Amino acid sequence: MGVVRILVSGACGSMGGYVCRGVGAADGMELVAAVDPAGIGHHLGEILPDLSEESKGIKVSGHLASTLEHYEPDVMIDFTRPAVVMNNIEAALNAGTACVVGTTGFSEIDSKTVARMAESKGGACLSAPNFSIGANLMMKFAAEAVSSFEYAEIIERHHEHKKDAPSGTAVKTAEMMAAARGSKPLSVVPTARHNVAGSRGGVLGNIPIHAVRMPGYVANQEVVLGGLGETLTISHETTSRECFIPGVLLAARAISGLSGLTYGLDSLLGDE
Ligand code: NAD
Repeated sequence: MGVVRILVSGACGSMGGYVCRGVGAADGMELVAAVDPAGIGHHLGEILPDLSEESKGIKVSGHLASTLEHYEPDVMIDFTRPAVVMNNIEAALNAGTACVVGTTGFSEIDSKTVARMAESKGGACLSAPNFSIGANLMMKFAAEAVSSFEYAEIIERHHEHKKDAPSGTAVKTAEMMAAARGSKPLSVVPTARHNVAGSRGGVLGNIPIHAVRMPGYVANQEVVLGGLGETLTISHETTSRECFIPGVLLAARAISGLSGLTYGLDSLLGDE
């Protein structure tokens, strides 16, 4: 396989910075363009001084469609905002560029729209609410364990700037666990009186989800499963946002072999 040419959308944001550094340092990948209205006209090296030398001279663009047309990247990696990600995906698919999307806040309708767009253009889009390998294994183990327990709850903890709750990871975990239970849903312990509204969390697939937001956290999740006289806790802790990069690079390498919409990283794990 030749060198995979990458455009990073949201390049001046927190995750975009990690992705630019990761792509710049990866074998078989080249960072060819960066888009972000926050850095228009600046060289990436001014914003990310620790970037690889070859990538420092890239000028940040504010206009995705013309940048796609000019550089013809193989893959757009998008870590932006829910309000703009759909337009970005559409622009990339129109230009024949595959998409790896980390931006969260996707609704079910958005997913269906992206699947339709990708299929009609003969393109590919992989969207994952969590690119960390450990978090994906945590979800997989939780889906495996759920058939042996009667109760499950999810506690997710994130930094105070996270815009949505619960996290996309918690939602996907609950969806995977509910799907694994099939026609035998989990039980939810009834609460006779709620002294504070919402104190039992938001319930998805009969799984209460509790979202903690606090400075000091990056992104953590515990899945607690309960049975007769025992609990099993599957826990994942993120200590740095670098944890997302191996999964992003895995997706960017694999996407040439995919078509339509792929949701989540689970189907790629074990491919490396
Ligand atoms: P951030 O606010 O630091 O960065 C977002 C960047 O997008 C900003 O620099 C902003 O200027 C830029 N932007 C806004 N509109 C744009 C547009 N039209 N085109 C290009 N760039 C645009 O946010 P962040 O912390 O980097 O997170 C970005 C997204 O990634 C969020 O949705 C977050 O929840 C998600 N996230 C996902 C994962 C994962 O593994 N999937 C991990 C961490 C964060």
